[in-house]
Amino acid sequence: MQPKTKEFNEASSVALEDEKIQANLLGLYGGFHQARLDASGATPNWAALQERGRAIKAHTIENLDIYLRMVEENVRRAGGKVFFAKDSDEATRYVTDLAQSKGVKTVVKSKSMVSEEMGLNERLEEAGIESVETDLGEYIIQLAGEAPFHIIAPAIHKSREDVSELFEDKLNAPHYTDIDDLTQEARRQLRQKFIAADMGITGANFVVAETGTLVLVTNEGNGRMCTSMPRIHVAITGMEKVVPSLEDMGIMLRLLIRSATGQRISSYVTTVTGPRLSDDEDGPEEFHLVIVDNGRSRLLADPQLREALYCLRCGACLNACPVYRKVGGHSYGWVYPGPIGAIVSPMLTNLSDAKDLPYASSLCGACKEACPVKINLPRMLLYLRHQLAEGKEYPEHKTSTARERIAMKAWRIAASTPFTMSIANKLGRLIQPLMPDGAQSGKSSSPLAAWTRYRAMPKLSARPFRKRWKM
Ligand code: SF4
Repeated sequence: MQPKTKEFNEASSVALEDEKIQANLLGLYGGFHQARLDASGATPNWAALQERGRAIKAHTIENLDIYLRMVEENVRRAGGKVFFAKDSDEATRYVTDLAQSKGVKTVVKSKSMVSEEMGLNERLEEAGIESVETDLGEYIIQLAGEAPFHIIAPAIHKSREDVSELFEDKLNAPHYTDIDDLTQEARRQLRQKFIAADMGITGANFVVAETGTLVLVTNEGNGRMCTSMPRIHVAITGMEKVVPSLEDMGIMLRLLIRSATGQRISSYVTTVTGPRLSDDEDGPEEFHLVIVDNGRSRLLADPQLREALYCLRCGACLNACPVYRKVGGHSYGWVYPGPIGAIVSPMLTNLSDAKDLPYASSLCGACKEACPVKINLPRMLLYLRHQLAEGKEYPEHKTSTARERIAMKAWRIAASTPFTMSIANKLGRLIQPLMPDGAQSGKSSSPLAAWTRYRAMPKLSARPFRKRWKM
């Protein structure tokens, strides 16, 4: 998928003015967000569980080389094949070459965000192979030719009416007004694809190192059908999805599912260890695990950003984020939206092109509070902003202009003593009436016009806080 992270500001403005998107985003807070709060509140020792989950992730990421080797050995022992891909091109080539060499005509896919990074559907189509998403939300956005809007609810921006029109247009379906009818239509269409498919492609929520077991969490059963019906199963996953043991997997599952949808357990938790054995009733003849780096080593190598690899992709930080809940997923311009996307996307694509993303946060801390493994997202966002302004670790991405640097130096001098602060306040009060307010600023050439377009500049008080405090 071609990143459009450069277009964040324009895309956000469009989303903010789109009434339909705004209406559909309203449900997130009362829906997923509240469900997570209820589920975590009802779980005994939730805070201890979070600590445990965080410790598991920290330990695994610190010893990733050891656990990846363990995964490789155990998948091979179970009869599967493992391929380490350094980037999305290598991973895509492996999968398309495999499909072509095995005469695959149709692929069914269960949700895999890494395959979205790779633009795998497009590459398979170019190779003459039909690739069909089977998660209902992913199926809808594939028909619409769009990117996912949310990590766990990719089509949440679409209303029932939108989906009905889409099915009429793309599937020649009758006009349905009932969600059950729409779901049944998708089911009928997809059932034929499952039967015809020669290859199933899935992601992985976790890969258990001690057994080489792949773990998939779904609510529709499509993951189980993708892993058991076609003769070849290919799982594609980022290298950070490893957990050491089955016991660890149990803890991570509890954290993931409660934080994602508020369920105690999802409808389907599928575990796959290698291809079918001679006495198995079903399952694929071949099992391939593709472990993708695609920029994750950069996160691993930077101690300030390594924590981003703890992410379970539960989406809780998106639902909690006041910025995501207004601008929606497409504004972020790549596979991963929201606070975690604002960190991961710049590092997996190009920090300079995604320089607006780390600023897409009020730093209120709601994302950190919502995160099941307590990832300190605001700290990393600040770190990336610092990198962009100062460019110490990533000098090639330094973006601050001479004007910004002068303004920041002036601010530092003004804020350094009560005397300079009081002078600055007096000066500010003198020039404030000359500055544009929100309504005028769109046309204004003032350097503050962009800042005041959507927010009013508070009036500087004649009696500063320090004076009131003394009273
Ligand atoms: S950063 Fe935390 S809350 Fe956000 S998706 Fe990842 S695990 Fe979930």
